[in-house]
Amino acid sequence: MEGPPCGDVCSVCHGNFNVPCQANCSHWFCGNCIMLVWDHGSTLQACRCPLCRRRITLLIPNDDSLRQRHDPAVGDILQKVESYNRIFGGPTTANGLFQRIQDLPFLLRRLVRELVDPHRSLPLVIRARVYIAILTFFSYLR
Ligand SMILES: [Zn+2]
Ligand SMILES: [Zn+2]
Repeated sequence: MEGPPCGDVCSVCHGNFNVPCQANCSHWFCGNCIMLVWDHGSTLQACRCPLCRRRITLLIPNDDSLRQRHDPAVGDILQKVESYNRIFGGPTTANGLFQRIQDLPFLLRRLVRELVDPHRSLPLVIRARVYIAILTFFSYLR
């Protein structure tokens, strides 16, 4: 993957791409920006492209970012993007139970963040959400 078109900017932050990733709908985003978009939606659902509203099930980082993997800031974003791909990428990218367990902390961190965020919802709703999440995890692991 070469990179976003010359002169293009990220449609989320309107700045130059940082760890550019191309979504399955062909739009480009900063790796971090598209993870933020996902952060604002449901944890257990793939986010939609802010430009064309298609569900994003695959994010492909450009070659330059992959070469900078040794940089902790870049490596961290790449890791999130790869976890996202494994979770939402469907059967072709699913790597079995072991991989799913490895990806769970990625989902759990987000769920925990949602739980401790007082702005998100009412306590009862939060509790319901936890039960649903736990049930979903069990079915996810089967
Ligand atoms: Zn951006
Ligand atoms: Zn799109």
